[in-house]
Amino acid sequence: MPLHIESPLLQSRPLSILSGKSVWLKFDALQPSGSFKLRGIGAVCEEYARQGKTRFISSSGGNAGIAVAYAGRQLSIPVTVVVPETTTLRAKTLIEQEGASVIVHGASWMEANALAQSMLDASSAFVHPFDNPTMWSGHATMIDEVARANVPFDSVLVSVGGGGLLSGVIEGLQRNGLGHVPVVAIETDGADSLARSVAAGTQIELEAITSVATSLGAKKVCANAFEVTRSHDVRCHVVSDLEALEACESFLHDHRVLVEPACGATLAAVYGRNQSMIAEFKAPLAIVCGGATATLEQIQEWRAKAAAAQSERAH
Ligand SMILES: *Cc1c(COP(=O)(O)O)cnc(C)c1O
Repeated sequence: MPLHIESPLLQSRPLSILSGKSVWLKFDALQPSGSFKLRGIGAVCEEYARQGKTRFISSSGGNAGIAVAYAGRQLSIPVTVVVPETTTLRAKTLIEQEGASVIVHGASWMEANALAQSMLDASSAFVHPFDNPTMWSGHATMIDEVARANVPFDSVLVSVGGGGLLSGVIEGLQRNGLGHVPVVAIETDGADSLARSVAAGTQIELEAITSVATSLGAKKVCANAFEVTRSHDVRCHVVSDLEALEACESFLHDHRVLVEPACGATLAAVYGRNQSMIAEFKAPLAIVCGGATATLEQIQEWRAKAAAAQSERAH
């Protein structure tokens, strides 16, 4: 039994009417940890448990840390998550709620991660948030479920952070004989490490993450995510934070589920002003990757700030 659940797959009436297309939603926001990450991280943690590891260590103050904490609780393996001082109280609470111990250390992720690495010994396992082939195979199960349901989709819309999700989606398409299906890979401006790498023709590292979509905030995508853009039809797009935030609010109204701006980025392909991302498709499948760390108040506050900044730029 895997640690993740089979998530709902539904045709969105509001999004289909809005776009004039048949829009499918793979509702991984409803995974018990609040995001798709449990698929891959659950698979990785189960593998480490089989190897006899007796502690899981993570340095993610986001959905990866929450998923590791959840997996550890299910497998009765203690989890330590080292997070930087910038981590929100909400994220720490969600991790602690799963029974993991949270250590706050350092001004940035670099320092928190260094401490996490120094805690590793032969009996403990470090769970990377996106760069692990076992994880990609776990993420790929979401496409197995869609293929099994046999719904007629002609493209996949997916958010990209470090590229673990993208790697999994493409593995899932390929192992289900759907290697020809185009993938629309969406990032927010300021977290666009894949789009910039593809434009440059070589893997580049961002100097800083400036988007509010912190779950997309990998300065550099994993090598596999860059490589699959060469072997698969992957189209990169970048949306603004404002578009991602507006999509979160619209989605809450339409489907009564709150997701992070990291997921709003994907939804902006349908809700946003730029309809060109899906123009040539008739039945896009949007991966509703979810995310548990943003509150509605936070999203509204970010949105007001982003809207003010935009109107300032317009004047
Ligand atoms: C981690 C995450 C992403 C990005 O996944 P990667 O594997 O890092 O590309 C997108 N959305 C949410 C909600 C996430 O937690």
